[in-house]
This record gives sequence, structure tokens and C-alpha cells, in this order.
Amino acid sequence: MWRSIPKCLINNIIFRNRVQRLPAGQNSLCRPKQEVSLQIYRPHTPTAFKISMPISVIEKVEAFDKQRCITVHWDDGNHSQYPYVWLRDNCQCPQCFLSSAKARKLPIEDLDVNISVEKVISTDSKISVVWPDQHISEFDSNWLKTRSFAQTTRKERQQKLFLTDRQNWGSELQIPTASFEEVLDNDEVAYQWLKTLRRIGVMLLKNAPAEKGQVAKLGERIGYLRLTFYGLTWQVEDKAGANNVAYTSGKLSLHTDYPALHRPPGIQLLHCIKPAEIGGETQIVDGFHVANQLRQLNPDAFRILTSIFVDFTDSGVDYCDFSLQSKHRIIDLDHNGKVVQINFNNATRDSIFDVPVELVHPFFSALKDYMNLMYKPENLITFKMEAGDVLTFDNWRILHGRQNYISTVGSSRHLEGAYASWDEAMSRLRCLEQALYGNK
Ligand SMILES: [Zn+2]
Repeated sequence: MWRSIPKCLINNIIFRNRVQRLPAGQNSLCRPKQEVSLQIYRPHTPTAFKISMPISVIEKVEAFDKQRCITVHWDDGNHSQYPYVWLRDNCQCPQCFLSSAKARKLPIEDLDVNISVEKVISTDSKISVVWPDQHISEFDSNWLKTRSFAQTTRKERQQKLFLTDRQNWGSELQIPTASFEEVLDNDEVAYQWLKTLRRIGVMLLKNAPAEKGQVAKLGERIGYLRLTFYGLTWQVEDKAGANNVAYTSGKLSLHTDYPALHRPPGIQLLHCIKPAEIGGETQIVDGFHVANQLRQLNPDAFRILTSIFVDFTDSGVDYCDFSLQSKHRIIDLDHNGKVVQINFNNATRDSIFDVPVELVHPFFSALKDYMNLMYKPENLITFKMEAGDVLTFDNWRILHGRQNYISTVGSSRHLEGAYASWDEAMSRLRCLEQALYGNK
């Protein structure tokens, strides 16, 4: 694993499969002992992070022509394998890599997938690979170690990049809250907001000004909002001739927004400008948590909802005229069978249903079982938003709904909503993490 204090090691030169050790006198690249301050592990000390990083120390390197890979032995006893082709592809020299853009210049056309190595030279913190055409690629030990192909390293890396750990919840959840103004003004609060949105799936931002324009500010905080056919932001009110069931005073059963898009918005921002005097309570449920319950309780229903594609449709005029069609499984799984996205809005589920007739009844039965689980008291949270509340949530995970309300002329319920995308929110999260804590 990572070592904070490197020790000096004998340099190795490897000619193909033969390891040659330099005489002790030639060991000029041995660096003095580096004391690494414990401060680097404390959060909120960004400068300390940038000054010193843990060093991965190379003990020896072996090249295996048959397997076309290099094995790096670390001083902690572990080793990592790096295929020749991957090393050549990732040469960091200015000819192969544009460091100002952190992007590869080497075109795939110029990559020899069967490349061999002429020679590998290592110090405790670097390996240099000499290729048959005498091109030289140098790789820093830390850079190599973070890119280890070992399963545990890859898993840790993916978790850090994508924050894949979710915390399931039921009705016992105290919805996490933060100050709306602080999310806008304080980087640490903004970072916690996005992290919570990822992990828990919901955060309530309090005390926003009770006027339009606030969700747009959250969009700027992330980068930009996601434009859809309902506009960059949209007004949830009881409207005459509503082009969406949300724009009435009726009950909205639990749903995710916009499955009529093949890539539904990842994040929803809902700002309560004026609550209804009577009714209009918000309901939310953790769709992942309930999907996992369904997997246990009714595997057949789970299999149906994770395999059958359902047609969705949405047409009308708003930002401009639109006529959307899409196909989704109600529950999306990743390649490991983990629940990663829920796509369900009963209002826009199409009457066109592209399945053999014998699957129709089993599908409805499975869908009802999933919905019945969601409405169980141990899963469902019901609460009333106050003026100035901004409910932010993961629209790929959380299903939301509302109770019906009494619409009064001149002082009706008014919410302003907007969408953002996960790519942009995760990008902001990583930039904030880098600015606050450096390379953890
Ligand atoms: Zn190069």
C-alpha cells in the first residue's frame, strides 16, 4: 500500500527478462529520506496537501516479453502489472501527450499493439521504458500505482471517481438540510451538498428568497442547468389547459421526471415559492432501496421490471413543440446487477407497449408490487415544503409525488423547478474537492 516515508533502494536496470543491478556507487538517484507531515491527512489544509504526497516506492521491475507486460514490485510487498501496449499508449512525453490539455496526442493509428520493449530502467520513484525505436517513456511511481490494474485498486479508484456508494434509507431518514445561501457562497457547503445528493439522494436547502430565479443560481453553482422542452426553469402551478399533469392541483403519484427522454435529467431542483394553504404535501421514496426489497421479496417481479422495455411518450408545446418517444426498463441495473436508475412516470407511460401480449399482465402485476412497496409507511416520507425551501434530489433514484391541494384564485401554490445533469454536478464536486483538499 502507500508508504509515507520512502527508503532508498538500489536502482534496477532490466534488459528484457534479465535484471541488472547497478553497483552501489552508481546509485546516484537515491533520494534523501522524506518526512511526510501528518497534516496531509487532515481535511481543510489544502496547502499541506499540495506540498507533500505519499510516495509509492518501487523495489524492482521485471519485464515479461511472453505476456507483453511489466511487473512493478513495490516495497510494501505488493506488485502491479502493466501491459506494454498500455504503457506505450500512455507515454507522458510532449510528443505523445499534451500536458496543457491533459490529453493524449498519440493517435491509435500509430500504436503498435504488439510492441516489445528494448530496456526498462527503474529508480525507487520512476520507471523509464526504452522502446525498440529508441523512444523513451517515463512513468512516475505514484502515477503508476494509482493506475494499477489490481481489482482492489480499480474498485477504490472507481468509487472515488464516481462516488458509487449509496446509503439506502426509508421513512426514518431525517432529510439532510443546508442553507441555500451557504451552498452558493461557501465551497465546503457546496461540496457537502453535492456529496449528500450523491450518497443519500436528497437534500433540502433552506431559506432561499421566495421569488423566482433561485434554481438558476444553483445551476450556475454547478455550471449550467439542463434545458428541456419545458424550458430552462419551469413553473409548477395550477394552469388552465395544462400541458403536463404537474401543472394541475391534482395528486401526483410517485414518479421520476422525464422518462420520455432516453437520458432523463439526473438531478431535480424544486423551489417552493408559495406553498398551498391546504394540501400539496411532497412525498419522496428511495427507489433503489425499494427495488432491492422487491428483488428479495418478489424476484420474478424484479426480473420483469429489469428486463422489459416500456414505451414512454410526451408531446405538446412549451419551449417549442415536441413529440418525444423513448424506451426504458423501469429498473436499470449495471453489469454487476446493481440498481443504478429508476425510470417511471405513469402519466407518460405510452399506451403503445412493445411486448408480446402474454407479458402484459405479468408486467402490470410486477409494477403494482413495486409501487405498493414504495407506499409502505416504512419507505415513504411525506412532508410539506415551506416558502424558501429548495428540494434537490437524484432524479435517477428518488421517486417523488405530491398530495392534491386546494387551488385558490390569486394565491395559489407555486414552485419553480429546473434540471441539472449528473456529469456536470460530479464535475463540480471533483473541482471543489481538488480546490478544498487537493489530491487526496
Ligand atoms: Zn512519447
